[in-house]
Amino acid sequence: MALQYRIVDAALADRISAEVDRARDEIVQLTADLVRIPTVNPPGDLYDACAHFLGGDMKRRGFDVEYIAADGRPEHTLRHPRINVVCSRRQGAGPVVHLNGHIDVVPPGDGWTVDPFAGVVRDGKIFGRGVCDMKAGIAAAVFAAEAIARAGVELPGTIEISGTVDEESGGFAGVAHLAGVGRIRKGRTDFVIIPEPLNVDRICVGHRGVYWFEVTAHGRIGHGSMPFLGVSAIDGVGRLLQTVREQLTPALASRKTSVPVVPAGARHATININGIDGGQPVDGIQTPCVADLCRAVFDRRFLMEEGFDAAKREIEALVTAVAQHTPGVRFDLRDLMVVHPTRTPDDSPVIAALDRSIRHVLGQAPALVASPGTYDHKHVARIAGIPHCVAYGPGELELAHQPDEHCRIDDLVNATKVIALATLDLMGAGR
Ligand SMILES: [Zn+2]
Repeated sequence: MALQYRIVDAALADRISAEVDRARDEIVQLTADLVRIPTVNPPGDLYDACAHFLGGDMKRRGFDVEYIAADGRPEHTLRHPRINVVCSRRQGAGPVVHLNGHIDVVPPGDGWTVDPFAGVVRDGKIFGRGVCDMKAGIAAAVFAAEAIARAGVELPGTIEISGTVDEESGGFAGVAHLAGVGRIRKGRTDFVIIPEPLNVDRICVGHRGVYWFEVTAHGRIGHGSMPFLGVSAIDGVGRLLQTVREQLTPALASRKTSVPVVPAGARHATININGIDGGQPVDGIQTPCVADLCRAVFDRRFLMEEGFDAAKREIEALVTAVAQHTPGVRFDLRDLMVVHPTRTPDDSPVIAALDRSIRHVLGQAPALVASPGTYDHKHVARIAGIPHCVAYGPGELELAHQPDEHCRIDDLVNATKVIALATLDLMGAGR
């Protein structure tokens, strides 16, 4: 195999890799310890405990530690405080490399064969809710920095590690807040790596756009025995859904982005119906009424090539057309959330550094991918204004949010090496 890794010298890279290998059990231990703090979101349990656990650990490793509460955000409450932690070690005036992981995890759900919050280690894997998404990634970031220090390397810049809240619910009290208060921003932060579980041999350069919207149909109430004297809002939404299914869905499926979104099905524009609520609550006491109100919430994922304005205009036109064919029903369209598509520039140094590091550690070329969903990259790019951000971390994307979520320890160790070497590379160490 040709050694294609050139920037950090090979002897230094090997020394750091050896330190990571020596720390294998400690990396597993930190991952398991983080998993044992069930930071379930919603509602956002134990953020304070997890932030302080991570901050305490980093303080012992010689980092400066700041706790940044999401003051002013409505979800930052006494019962569920939104506390972020930012740890930094500045050794030189060179670049600032920021490694960001979210500390929240989704609820465990059913179907587990192990305790989701016990941090079970078995068959070379760590099991638990949030292991791959993304407490293993946080442990990889911590030990990337630790291995550099243990190898006796003085960094020519600053390494920062943050643990942030609420990524799973949009990240507004987390990375968006840190960007909003200027803790992460262009001019202060040069490169950002988010160790989300995109697989150890892939670099994630962005995601599609998201447009969540709600359509409310207003009909006219009437007696259920004489439905012809009322106008059913449920029938109105039914017609809307039929039109979406017959006209919009095939049109979206025919559009494909040049961004390398995985899995392949997500390379197209898509729409999902998140929920419908109409008429009387089905578990309540029923009275004979024509439903005069029905709402549906949609999740439209749009492509960089489409853009938000066109995606929204298309929905508006569709709702207008349905309304014209549905006499007596008024439709209101309301935007719930918009996330613009994000893509790291092809020539970004952060891609090049990870590419070289992956080749060195794994002996293979990485694939560039984009995420089917979104993650905190959007806030780094849009609010902080930092173009040089990617996701790279241990764990398989397909296991995220699944029962028996786990991460292979070999992948965790390799990702730790890659992040350490990429960090050095970005700072120009050993050049
Ligand atoms: Zn995640």
